[in-house]
Amino acid sequence: CFCELEGSINDCSCDVDTVDHFNNMKVYPRLQSLLVKNFFRFYKVNLKQDCPFWPDDSRCAMRFCQVENCEEQAIPQGIKEKGEHRDKTASFKYTKEAQVDRSCSEVEDFDSALGFLDTSISDQAHKEFELWAKHDEAEEDFCIVDDHDAGAQYVDLLLNPERYTGYRGDSAHRIWKSIYLENCFGGNIDTANKFSSYMPHMDLRDVCLEQRAFYRIISGLHSSINIHLCSKYLLSESKDFLDPQGVWGPNVKEFKQRFSPETTSGEGPHWLRNLYFIYLVELRALAKAAPYLRREDYYTGIAEEDEEVKLAMHDMLSVIESFQSHFNENALFSSGIASIKFKHDYKEKFRNISRIMDCVGCDKCKLWGKLQTQGLGTALKILYSEKLNLATESGIWDKPHIEADPIFRLSRTEIVALFNAFGRLSNSIYEMENFRRVLR
Ligand code: FAD
Repeated sequence: CFCELEGSINDCSCDVDTVDHFNNMKVYPRLQSLLVKNFFRFYKVNLKQDCPFWPDDSRCAMRFCQVENCEEQAIPQGIKEKGEHRDKTASFKYTKEAQVDRSCSEVEDFDSALGFLDTSISDQAHKEFELWAKHDEAEEDFCIVDDHDAGAQYVDLLLNPERYTGYRGDSAHRIWKSIYLENCFGGNIDTANKFSSYMPHMDLRDVCLEQRAFYRIISGLHSSINIHLCSKYLLSESKDFLDPQGVWGPNVKEFKQRFSPETTSGEGPHWLRNLYFIYLVELRALAKAAPYLRREDYYTGIAEEDEEVKLAMHDMLSVIESFQSHFNENALFSSGIASIKFKHDYKEKFRNISRIMDCVGCDKCKLWGKLQTQGLGTALKILYSEKLNLATESGIWDKPHIEADPIFRLSRTEIVALFNAFGRLSNSIYEMENFRRVLR
């Protein structure tokens, strides 16, 4: 059976069986119940951003590409109002209004950390402080976060599951091609467009570890997206064009076509293996950020549910920390001065990938593409954040919440993206088990 992956995962110290068991028995069921909670199901995103690289070619001609709007009243008030204060940009708004809102505990914490600031500080100074704070925060970002744009809206992820949409052809290929070409250090989008015959195969023996990891991460994400469209395939559709209903389920033939060695010049099983690689990268990020994530209050304003989520989160994080063979992030960017430049370029390239997502010609694919790249960007930010390292070394996590300087911060949107993106990977590994079973 071609998809029966065996042995150790390249560049990692554990094998496929270990990950399968850990994910399918421990992580997947926990994530299933966590991600349906209000805190995680409403994701704020700007789907109206213009493509910065080429004119939009296909604007959602397919009916299954549409994103269903969520009812305003469905979004918990706590997310819409106080939840906003928790976001890093809002937190840095050291405005008089923010000080007045004493009911928002995070703002209070932030006030205490900035207690040395004179509250009579002029508006101009406020603006400058805000700009520098934002700039400082963004320095560590691997991704463009657009949830404060005018066009940003809340999307109910449960109403818009990632599944087959029919998006394919030149538009989809151009996106994938451009993303893979970001891995050509020295190449750019223009060159990507010139190489129409470009295929994202790569001789992994010839490249350095960082570049190899970049390719594996993108390829793993690509596999995950394509596994989802195979596992929630449109098996039969309603005759009424306006009716978006249909019968959805796994399509083994489609899965085989996309991943068998015969139809992919032997590459398919490697692509599936890359899914495990990106899974281990994000798993490690969650383990590293666990002390920070334990401090979050996952506030929606619905007290009972917030408490439930906090408990479930503590349980989830303990399980994640119990995994022994994580991806070793210190293996990357460890060779002196050249590494600093490399790390900088790496960040730029990941940021570019989030810009490329604005060019996806199917809103539903764009939604999940943006969420997953943002989740991945957040994972990389965690893995390579100097501020998080500093906070961990200074033992900040052992201090009471109120005393801790918010030296490292994740916005609500970043946390939602991080967990949902990891949830997608977890789901793909789980679905693979089903495909394997059927194929056997
Ligand atoms: P593609 O998947 O388009 O791949 C292009 C080429 O890349 C292949 O020919 C192969 O050589 C290579 N390749 C394929 N897989 C890998 C891999 N894992 N690693 C390395 N190389 C690989 N479609 C949906 O139905 N639902 C969605 O939600 C959805 N979301 C998408 C999100 C994004 C951001 C993008 C860019 C596309 C999305 N699509 C979605 C489209 C889908 O990914 C495919 O592009 C489409 O189904 C056409 O598939 P294809 O067989 O032509 O190959």
